[in-house]
Amino acid sequence: MIVEIVTTGTELLLGQIVNTNSAYLAEELNKLGLDVLYQTTIGDNRQRMTEVLKLALSRADIVITSGGLGPTQGDITKLVTASLFDLEMKLHQPSLDNIKQRFTFRGIEMTDNNIRQAMIPEGAIVLDNACGTAPGIVLEHEGKIIINLPGPPHELKDMFRLKIVPYLSKKYGCKSVIVSRVLNTFGIGESLLEDKIKDLILTQGNPTLALLARLGEVIVRITAKADTKEEALVLIGKVETEIRNRVGEFIFTIDDGDMEEVVGQLLTDKKLTIACAESCTGGLITSRLTDVAGSSSYVYGSVVSYTDEVKKSELNVSEDVLTAKGAVSEEVAIAMAEGIAKKFHTDIGVGVTGIAGPGGGSEEKPVGLVYIAITGKLGTKVYKNNFNGKRKYIKYRTSQTALDIVRRYTQEI
Ligand code: ATP
Ligand code: MG
Repeated sequence: MIVEIVTTGTELLLGQIVNTNSAYLAEELNKLGLDVLYQTTIGDNRQRMTEVLKLALSRADIVITSGGLGPTQGDITKLVTASLFDLEMKLHQPSLDNIKQRFTFRGIEMTDNNIRQAMIPEGAIVLDNACGTAPGIVLEHEGKIIINLPGPPHELKDMFRLKIVPYLSKKYGCKSVIVSRVLNTFGIGESLLEDKIKDLILTQGNPTLALLARLGEVIVRITAKADTKEEALVLIGKVETEIRNRVGEFIFTIDDGDMEEVVGQLLTDKKLTIACAESCTGGLITSRLTDVAGSSSYVYGSVVSYTDEVKKSELNVSEDVLTAKGAVSEEVAIAMAEGIAKKFHTDIGVGVTGIAGPGGGSEEKPVGLVYIAITGKLGTKVYKNNFNGKRKYIKYRTSQTALDIVRRYTQEI
């Protein structure tokens, strides 16, 4: 079944309000297995609304409108709907009673224009509005269905959930469900990832695949449609396995999971403790590690060793190394990681030193140069990174990369 969503309201066209009704309806209709192929937004103009609804009815089986059911002259959706099919407007007494009752309850006098809200195209199914005054309608006509819902989002949602979902499910035996899974990757660029799974993207059907890059990470969304959730998960599982075979090492978690949660789980499972010596991240790595409940069982403590003095006094980084190699160097990152692990007797030590900018860079050591070292049972490793972007972003990227390094290191233990 093809559905078109028509949202009405001049404020939407002016950008004064965000069209959350469209997003909500689209998501819910897709969950029912109905295909939303068009979404249109129009102002409160009778002629244009008539044109849009005519067009919508010509290309969709079901047209769902939002807004314009209120008592004012600008509220014309039901009138336009009725005139499309040459239907009379009739007073719907139960709706009028409901409206009157609401006014009485609130102690306000009802004005005559509120009667407009109780006027319904003849033959329409009336959907009473538990949250407001304007009733919605369903009109079935010559094989097409037009549904008018109120504009205020909580009224629309309430009516959709309580009235429209049961109506559509019954009518179409909507069994199909849409299920999505997101694979969160880190450390592989969007184009390389796309290249690795290009054939899957090009031949996609059900499930569909989408790549999305954000904050240096790339997510792959797999969406399947099936009669039941279980069947959809099986379809997703097949594609997921194929993707994991190719780029599995970069996938750190699925759906809403965070890198710090993954790291926390690994440290817990392997009964390992961690301490960090942080320079340019100023404690961000530790802050993120401690965002996870239960982190006190593996985060021992950390040192924010911003100055050379603190690197020397707290982490035992030698003066000679600092002078010879500079604070932002491989050797200092290693000394920091080893120094903190020794100081706190932890299984894993992490040392981070870099230039977050915007000042402090040189040709040899540009802004964004960051060394991350890790030490533990598998020995000491150090990674050189060149990040770009603003100071905050470089700090975030550094923390994410450091956590990913911990993830990969711990996985091997
Ligand atoms: P009312 O009885 O309040 O007039 P109505 O059904 O006539 O309800 P509108 O007048 O179109 O609906 O919209 C009422 C309010 O609902 C708007 O001021 C706006 O805040 C909100 N609204 C309307 N349409 C949308 C939409 N598409 N997305 C989000 N909010 C919306
Ligand atoms: Mg209105």
